[in-house]
Amino acid sequence: MSEELAPGLYLVATPIGNLGDITLRALEILKQADRIACEDTRQTQKLLNHFGIVTPSTSFHEHNERQRGTELIEELKSGARIAVVSDAGMPGISDPGSWLVNAAIAAGVPVIPIPGANAALSALIASGLPTEQFHFLGFLPEKAGARRTRLEDLSAQPRETAETLIFYEAPHRIADTLADLESVFGPGLRVVAARELTKLHEEFLRGTVAEVRRDLAARDRIRGEFVLLIEAPAKNPGSPGVDSQTRETISARVARLQSESNLDEKEALKRLARELGQSKSELYRELQRERARRK
Ligand code: SAM
Repeated sequence: MSEELAPGLYLVATPIGNLGDITLRALEILKQADRIACEDTRQTQKLLNHFGIVTPSTSFHEHNERQRGTELIEELKSGARIAVVSDAGMPGISDPGSWLVNAAIAAGVPVIPIPGANAALSALIASGLPTEQFHFLGFLPEKAGARRTRLEDLSAQPRETAETLIFYEAPHRIADTLADLESVFGPGLRVVAARELTKLHEEFLRGTVAEVRRDLAARDRIRGEFVLLIEAPAKNPGSPGVDSQTRETISARVARLQSESNLDEKEALKRLARELGQSKSELYRELQRERARRK
């Protein structure tokens, strides 16, 4: 690309680990832009230094997106060429960018995607799960109750065919999320945990949710970044579907433990919480939610 760069907002994908994944076009845009708006200027500076790029950068993150974005739009309207990058992967995908894109469109400024690495799609294509139909959901809620409710809503949604659901997850939450997936979708749910994509220790853990949980539980420490994928089974609207065959409710499990082991409800909840690796209070809240739904 030797012609002068046209004015506009360039959304530039950057590597998610392996620096070799930057594209030739991305390097050219970053070199020729008037300014690079970065989620974290120090992080991007490492990339720029590595490739000998001296374009000035400015910070542009979730906390200053509107204020800095408004300034950037003014520059763009005057004919600037601005590149936007996030710390890794594609701007706008679980990262800042979409507000600025909409503001640029509204201002009549050209918006140009510069494709490249993305964690969700890299994980999907190597997962072995269905790629014909998938749903990217970003990060699940951090709070245990909200996360469980979100997963229950997803499991209840009708689906004509099996569909891959893709989540981003932090290493310190992956065990809890897998425990929630097992209790909501059942132990037979097909799961893939893609770890450290494009990096030295890249790995794919494939199996049922129960198997993947066991594998991770056997490790001293869970490190690295994760993309978590599940194969949500087909489910007809109005019918109980596959879900009801694989999933046993908390109240049914508590009742079974009570009768099999002659425990009261509190003791049964405590034991089940241990088995599922969840807190007793969270499980109790889940039991209450199930009972409320049945009323
Ligand atoms: N914009 C990025 C993209 O296009 O993929 C995603 C940014 S999001 C803030 C960061 C999350 O992406 C991480 O918490 C992790 O779930 C996932 N991720 C990023 N890089 C990864 C990698 N190398 N391996 C696995 N997951 C990764």
